[in-house]
Amino acid sequence: MRIDVVTLFPEFMDQAATVGVVGRARERGLLALQGWNPRDYAEGNYRRVDDRPFGGGPGMVMLIDPLRAAITAARAAAPGPARVFYMSPQGRPLTQARVRELAALPRLILLCGRYEGVDERLLQAEVDEELSIGDYVLSGGELAAAVVVDAVARLQNGALNDALSAEQDSFEGDGLLDCPHYTRPVEHALGRVPDVLLSGNHADIARWRRQQSLVRTAVRRPELLDEAALGQADRRLLDA
Ligand code: SAM
Repeated sequence: MRIDVVTLFPEFMDQAATVGVVGRARERGLLALQGWNPRDYAEGNYRRVDDRPFGGGPGMVMLIDPLRAAITAARAAAPGPARVFYMSPQGRPLTQARVRELAALPRLILLCGRYEGVDERLLQAEVDEELSIGDYVLSGGELAAAVVVDAVARLQNGALNDALSAEQDSFEGDGLLDCPHYTRPVEHALGRVPDVLLSGNHADIARWRRQQSLVRTAVRRPELLDEAALGQADRRLLDA
């Protein structure tokens, strides 16, 4: 998959996307990532990318033309249509289900705002969808774009060393939270690993993990249980 990021700080994306699973996905040729700086498409000695808002008020607004030229260049950089996403606190909240959908697309263009945001006319003309990473306001879209890049990169086939690990993560499958995990040593000053995980009995381990997921979800995110369509066996584990 290919992701183009339109940002005043392309170096931020370069830094964020070199380590861990995202770095590996790029090395393995599973993800191509390129930054596009609207300043490179701005005119005049000062290469202005923003101006004062009509109607007055604080802050600056990103200009249409440098952004539009950067998006056009990003679109032309590879064959095939690309959907354009504006990272915005006003956008559709990002969920794991939406991440799965995005990860299946061949191309994404992520547009990062700064200042008070972007001239509305640019959004109307060029953006297919606005995406929010949560109900809080960041100073720029780069962190949000990095979140999207990370979340979709790890879902590319071959990015994770064990593909099963993504399927067992929180919000996957029927949408429950993941169970707790333990590793060596068995005995530690902070406690002992639950006996069932040492039993070698795969059915018991699976049942224990399922129960932990159910209970955790009930305690921490009860609204997720309502959507999980639990069966009789799950109800029994939850009540046990
Ligand atoms: N005035 C805007 C508003 O209240 O909707 C906020 C502008 S914010 C200071 C600057 C930029 O950060 C936005 O244009 C957007 O690209 C990005 N941003 C801020 N919060 C975000 C969030 N929760 N999710 C995604 N992007 C966000």
